[in-house]
Amino acid sequence: MSDLRELYQEVIFDHNRKPRNFRKLDPADRLAEGFNPLCGDQITVYVKFDQGVISDVSFEGSGCAISTASASLMTEALKGKTEAEARALFENFHSAVTNHGCAKCDDLGKLEVLTGVAEYPSRVKCATLAWHTFTAALDQKDQPVTTE
Ligand code: ZN
Repeated sequence: MSDLRELYQEVIFDHNRKPRNFRKLDPADRLAEGFNPLCGDQITVYVKFDQGVISDVSFEGSGCAISTASASLMTEALKGKTEAEARALFENFHSAVTNHGCAKCDDLGKLEVLTGVAEYPSRVKCATLAWHTFTAALDQKDQPVTTE
């Protein structure tokens, strides 16, 4: 188990140091801003659709290692998904990181590296900020979302 934990930390470290899809999408079909006042994380998520499928998704912002790695992993996980598939994945991920267990753990893929935060309730908001912001972008909320 400790080997697995080290591997997970390695992936998080890598995604924090070299975040994937860390750029602005202009024009984007949807975008939203999110804040996690507890930690100071802030993020903007951009989404592009092509025929009902997420063709591109990216983010900008600044935050802790967990929030940055989570956003980076999220962008990789979402490409090619429909809106319904994306929402289902968030539900699954949210359940896993809030210690309710994942209904379909196998579907989490690389996102599984973040499930360790379930043991640290204050970091759950860091891990879910990008996802809440992504959902707000889907819902086209005009107000920035906050984890508070
Ligand atoms: Zn954070």
